[in-house]
Amino acid sequence: MVDAIYNITPEQFQKQGIHAVFTDLDNTLLAWNNPDGTQQLKDWIAAMQAAGIPIVVVSNNNHRRVGQVVENLDLPYVARAMKPLSLGIEHAKEKMNLSRHEIVMVGDQLITDVHAGNLAGLRTILVRPLIDTDAWNTKLNRFLEKFLFFGLRKKYPALHWQEDLND
Ligand SMILES: [Mg+2]
Repeated sequence: MVDAIYNITPEQFQKQGIHAVFTDLDNTLLAWNNPDGTQQLKDWIAAMQAAGIPIVVVSNNNHRRVGQVVENLDLPYVARAMKPLSLGIEHAKEKMNLSRHEIVMVGDQLITDVHAGNLAGLRTILVRPLIDTDAWNTKLNRFLEKFLFFGLRKKYPALHWQEDLND
């Protein structure tokens, strides 16, 4: 559990033996209502690319929406990933010459991102959503998330929100 994906440096990933990052798009990389992204995002992507850590966007959104956004950022992507199923993640993983524990899936939802990542056997990081308000279709999920989150904290009391991976 890390506050934001931008807080994690290439060195922190490498220290954990992570050599590729799969990430959700909406509210993880970008605020859902700001499709252009921020300078912070662009700097983070540049730092990962300079360190040779590939980033793959794995989104449930459609090709048009994901393609439009990701084209500006010059990242490979899988659209219609069908999270909470692991199909999209497996598809992205096939293109990597890496083992499961060398890849991390990062996302702002337990129900979709973290579940799908765990199902595919990857390591997973939950981040806080970039903004509090959601698209209408995420609101029900958020409601369910609260219950899941409560159960998670009970089962793993050591889990806490970290500023970054070194925290
Ligand atoms: Mg999301």
